[in-house]
Amino acid sequence: MTKMKIMSELPHKYEVTIKAASTSNKLSDQTKEELKASGMMDDKGKLKLKGVSPKMLKKMKEEAVDCPVLKKEVPFIQCFVCSNFQSRITGKVLCKGDPL
Ligand code: SF4
Repeated sequence: MTKMKIMSELPHKYEVTIKAASTSNKLSDQTKEELKASGMMDDKGKLKLKGVSPKMLKKMKEEAVDCPVLKKEVPFIQCFVCSNFQSRITGKVLCKGDPL
């Protein structure tokens, strides 16, 4: 009940289902640079996401979304740090849907 309320209160355009990533789920160099620039990845390429446990991180690395804006599959980590990302609720990403 509470979750439904949050979903309707956050202004979002898309609810994007999170799925298991297909074979290649490597982060692009651009995403890595963005992560490093914002302090979410160290120089060795290790992710440091605030409030995300190593166990959760491992799971997130195996997930992806079919992004409705970029019109392709993107790794969930990339989606998580995307400017359109609002929240993750029950297997779905609430996405603002602005052009990237
Ligand atoms: S948050 Fe960004 S990467 Fe994720 S689905 Fe929306 S536009 Fe795509």
